[in-house]
Amino acid sequence: MALTGIQIYKLLPKTNCGECGVPTCLAFAMNLAAGKAELDACPSVSEEAKAELADASAPPISVVVIGAGEKKLKLGGETVLFRHEKTFVNPPGIAVLVTDEMGDQDVAGRLERFKTLEYERVGLTLRADLVAVKAISGDTDRFTSLVTKVKNETDGGLILMTEDAGVMEAGLKVCADRRPLIYAATKENADAMAGLSKEHGCPLAVRGDGLDELSELTTKLAEDGLKELVIDSGARSVRKAFEDHVAIRRGALLKKYKPLGFPTITLPCEMTDDLMQETLMASLFVAKYGGIIVLSDLQGHSLFPLLLARMNIYTDPQRPMATSAGIYEIGGPNEESPVLITSNFSLTYFIVSGEIEASRVPAWLVIVDTEGLSVLTAWAAGKFVGDAVGMAMKKCGILEKVSHKKVIIPGYAAAISGDLEEELGDWDVLVGPRESAHIPAYLKEWQP
Ligand code: SF4
Repeated sequence: MALTGIQIYKLLPKTNCGECGVPTCLAFAMNLAAGKAELDACPSVSEEAKAELADASAPPISVVVIGAGEKKLKLGGETVLFRHEKTFVNPPGIAVLVTDEMGDQDVAGRLERFKTLEYERVGLTLRADLVAVKAISGDTDRFTSLVTKVKNETDGGLILMTEDAGVMEAGLKVCADRRPLIYAATKENADAMAGLSKEHGCPLAVRGDGLDELSELTTKLAEDGLKELVIDSGARSVRKAFEDHVAIRRGALLKKYKPLGFPTITLPCEMTDDLMQETLMASLFVAKYGGIIVLSDLQGHSLFPLLLARMNIYTDPQRPMATSAGIYEIGGPNEESPVLITSNFSLTYFIVSGEIEASRVPAWLVIVDTEGLSVLTAWAAGKFVGDAVGMAMKKCGILEKVSHKKVIIPGYAAAISGDLEEELGDWDVLVGPRESAHIPAYLKEWQP
C-alpha cells in the first residue's frame, strides 16, 4: 500500500535544505507520494528510511533508462490509467527499424530521416528517439558493422534486436557504452540474455508468448536481480496488442501485479506493411500505453502528427501550455508597425501569430505572462487587466521600439482599455477584433 505524503515526510531528515529541488521536506514528500519525484533526489535520507520508502515510493510501472548522456530516454514511471486523473509522465520512445538485410541506401535513408525530421513546438523539439537495429542475416559481422554505423551516425538511443545471444554479445561489444536496450529475452534464451544484461549494465526487453508466459519470465528475471525490464506480450495483431497493453497497465496499477509492472515495447512495423496504418496503430499505442513504439520508417507526413499527438497526450492537463512572455517580431516589423498584445496561453499565441503572419502586415506581438490562461479566463482571474498589461508593456521594452503610441488589445478584453490607457499615459488603446480570424482584415486598415 502506497504511503501518504505525511507518512513519507516522517521518514525524511526534515532539514529543509532544498537540495532535492524543492524548498521543504514536506513539499518533497508530497511530490514523492504523487509520483512526481524520485527518492534519489534527496542526498540526506538515511539507509533505513530508504529501505522503507523505496518500495512504497516506487511507481507501479518501473522506470527504465535507455541510452546515456543527454539523449537518454526514460520510460515507465506511470501512475495513472487516464491522463486526466493526473498526468502521464514519460512519453513513449519512437523508434525506426533498420536491419542487416537492408541495402546501404535504404539504411542511409532511414538514418537520414531519423536525424533530420525534427520540429519545434511550444519551445520543445519533437523528434524520434531510437534506432532499432535488427539481425536477420545470421551474419555476425554484418550485424556489428550495421550497429557501428548506426552508433557513429546517430545520437539517439539504440535497440539491438536478435534472439541469438552470441550475435547480441558481438553487438553489445560495439555499443554497450550507449546503454542500448537488449531485445529480447525469451523462454529459450532468458539465462544467456540476462547474463549479457548484467555484464554490460544494459536494460533488457523480455518477450513472452502471451501475458502468462511473460509474467513467468519477468518474475524469474526479477528474482535473478534484473530490475530494468521492458516487456513485449508477443502480440502482433493490433487488437491483441491493444488488449494486452490495457491488461498490463490495469494489472500493474489496479492489482499491483509486479510481474507486469514494466514499460512495454510494441512493433507496429510487424503488424502491417502500410506506413499510414502503422502510424495509426502507433498513435493508438501513444495513448494506450506503449513504452517504445518501433516503426518501419519515418516520413514527415506520418511522423509529425504522431509526435504532436504524443506531445499533447503527455502534457500535464493541470498545467496549461504557455509561451514565454516578451516581444515577438512577426514579418520584420519597424517603428511604425502595429503593436498587438495577448495572453501567453500557447494556443492563443499560435492562432494570433498565425493570423498576423497571414495578414502580411509586419507587426510586434507582445505576450503577457498570464500563467498560461487564455485572454478571457486571465481577465476574469485578474491576470490580464489594465495595470498588469501596462506594466508588462513597460517592462518588455516595446514602448521604445515604436514611434507611434497605439496598442491593439483583443476584442474580448475591451473592458481593460480605460485602465490600460491610464497606466500607459498618452497611449491610445485600440480594441481589436474578438475573433482572431478577423485580424488580417483589421491589420490591413492599420495607420500608425
Ligand atoms: S534534500 Fe532531503 S533533506 Fe533536503 S529538503 Fe529535500 S527532502 Fe528535505
